[in-house]
Amino acid sequence: MRYDDSPPPPESASSVSPDPPWYSRRSTLAVAAAALAPTALAGWVLTQVLTGSGPGGQPPQPKALPASHTAGAGAGDAKSSTTTPSPTASAPASASAPAAPAKGSKGPLAGRTVVIDPGHNTGNFKHTSEIDRQVDIGTNLKECDTTGTTTNSGYMEAEFTLDVSRRARTLLESKGAKVVFTHNADRPWGPCIDERARIGNEAKADAVVSVHADGVSAGNRGFHIILPATVKGGAADTSKIVGPSRDLGERIAGNFARSTGSAPANYLGSGTGLVVRDDLGGLNLSTRPKVFIECGNMRDAKDAAQLTSPEWRQKAAEGITNGIVGFLGG
Ligand code: ZN
Repeated sequence: MRYDDSPPPPESASSVSPDPPWYSRRSTLAVAAAALAPTALAGWVLTQVLTGSGPGGQPPQPKALPASHTAGAGAGDAKSSTTTPSPTASAPASASAPAAPAKGSKGPLAGRTVVIDPGHNTGNFKHTSEIDRQVDIGTNLKECDTTGTTTNSGYMEAEFTLDVSRRARTLLESKGAKVVFTHNADRPWGPCIDERARIGNEAKADAVVSVHADGVSAGNRGFHIILPATVKGGAADTSKIVGPSRDLGERIAGNFARSTGSAPANYLGSGTGLVVRDDLGGLNLSTRPKVFIECGNMRDAKDAAQLTSPEWRQKAAEGITNGIVGFLGG
């Protein structure tokens, strides 16, 4: 869920209520708030086609939004993104420079390193004292990690994130990428958010994606991508990743919508599927292009039906993968 740096919400009604500050930070883009009406989705998808991101035989490399939409980013972001990412503000040289190609690797992502961060950990529920520990995210202190959410039937977000991540890893590796996980159910809890960021940084990842699903009240549906705001403080300095991370996020959003048939979230992001946040340690501490994806709302029955479907999760992994491929120019 989105409260990745917040205390784990209880499994009560309070856990399904949107957090007001969340809305205050949402990215207000130029698109009028698009509800989830089919016509709105159709228009949104049509926009993708008209902007040259239509489906085809080539690996999809769409932008989620026309440039005019992204130009307006930041207007509603509390204290972030007042600087519109410049088209020339691509990934810093070090961020896009391929690592030494693995021997024998082939495919469009040969020589590239992708870090996948499966949100939360199924063991976090049993280690609340450990995950409640405060860690330094540069701008402030936050909880080490959170439990994540669940569907009403008990399917854990941490199970979902790991499954989608593994599916994406298989796809990415088939395209030649080196894939690094922040964890793989190989530890009892965590890692903490600062360590999750550090893993991407130390791997010199060309792209990092943190996989999540949200947990808000029923009726709120759809996916969204969380982009890093411009923050600076302590070990946090996102100035070099804001631009390329937006590019990465837009490409994942477009591909995710097409692969899954899901629409951008109807409860935030003004229908764009993109939100900028300055309060996530996993983004604030990253020095590599990085986004979070909230694949759907586990507390909504219709979204949950998708999130619990292995077939849908495969499509989700494909959308994420294709967005990464597009970003890395594969
Ligand atoms: Zn989460």
